[in-house]
Amino acid sequence: MGKDCLFCRILAKEVPAKIVHEDEQAVAFDDINPQAPTHVLIVPRRHIAGLNDVTAADGALLGHLQLVAAQIARQRGLAESGYRTVLNTGRGAGQSIFHVHLHLLGGRGLRWPPG
Ligand code: AMP
Ligand code: ZN
Repeated sequence: MGKDCLFCRILAKEVPAKIVHEDEQAVAFDDINPQAPTHVLIVPRRHIAGLNDVTAADGALLGHLQLVAAQIARQRGLAESGYRTVLNTGRGAGQSIFHVHLHLLGGRGLRWPPG
């Protein structure tokens, strides 16, 4: 991907973001339009459009996104109060950026089911 993908551009540091975690496989940054006191996006460095495009070989990477979310949640003291990780797939489910990203939401009460 590259120029056409906003998140690839953020990963390439061409577009600024408040980065809160970086490792070999993933980068996490604050959502520009936060829906909760903590709203972080955990994004694989490799461009994958969405969950419809993953294969069995991506299992460890997808698990890694969840592990990073749990680590950030622990660091922010959210482990006790609770938090939510969300991966929207397809426009009908609210996906607007077609580079896989896991939302981490916390710091307020979260109702169920989501809208
Ligand atoms: P989704 O709707 O699941 O595809 O999530 C995309 C998320 O990206 C939304 O929550 C947006 O607020 C967020 N977003 C869009 N542009 C930026 C940006 N430049 N920096 C950080 N987050 C962004
Ligand atoms: Zn991308």
